Amino acid sequence: MEDPFEASAAAYLRQQAEIYGMELPLDGKLLKNPPSNGNKATSKDLESFYNEIKECQLCPLGTTRTKFVFGVGNPNADLMLIGEAPGRNEDLQGEPFVGRAGQLLDKILAAIKLSREEVYIANVLKCRPPNNRDPLKSESDTCQPYLKQQIELIKPKLILALGRVSGAWLLGEDLALKDMRNKSYIYNGIEMMVTYHPAALLRNPNWKRPCWEDMQKVRDRILALTQPQGLV
Ligand code: SF4
Repeated sequence: MEDPFEASAAAYLRQQAEIYGMELPLDGKLLKNPPSNGNKATSKDLESFYNEIKECQLCPLGTTRTKFVFGVGNPNADLMLIGEAPGRNEDLQGEPFVGRAGQLLDKILAAIKLSREEVYIANVLKCRPPNNRDPLKSESDTCQPYLKQQIELIKPKLILALGRVSGAWLLGEDLALKDMRNKSYIYNGIEMMVTYHPAALLRNPNWKRPCWEDMQKVRDRILALTQPQGLV
């Protein structure tokens, strides 16, 4: 069966290559000028915040982590992606969504004509839980002010929770993923949607099709939310 993300990302890259007359890599890393959204965070705001919290030892994960995983991307992003917690590769590299799940996330973004450099990506937890277990409630509760502050600085137009743990944490309800998909929520005044975690798509490729349907809705909402008023 055709992979919807491969097909859409490849079509987009071909189109960009025709428009700009250049070779583009097929790994979804499209270098474009980040969108400017006026009065939002600057990279300095985020950097200061990172420097404030990077040595955090407020929960036991501070002693077992290799690297603190703050977040990455455009401080002016319209779309903010929120995963659960760093995994092994993220813990080693200090960046969220690297490794195979990260490569798939890049393709998912390219399929809706976005790159990693244009969105902001963070996790609920900044440090890796041992053996990739689900975060404990006490850990999420302790860490959550950091993510809230990042959201407050970035002020995205849309939050996309990746996976059940992240969606349930943001919604404050222990719901199954199937009950959170296909809906729009408001998180602290910001529109929010939920879809599959890329690692889940690697485990079960049958979920790529419904995830692609979710991503088309995300693309439509981003377009609607960023249109000048009166054009929507
Ligand atoms: S997980 Fe969060 S609260 Fe725990 S040590 Fe890391 S940054 Fe601090």
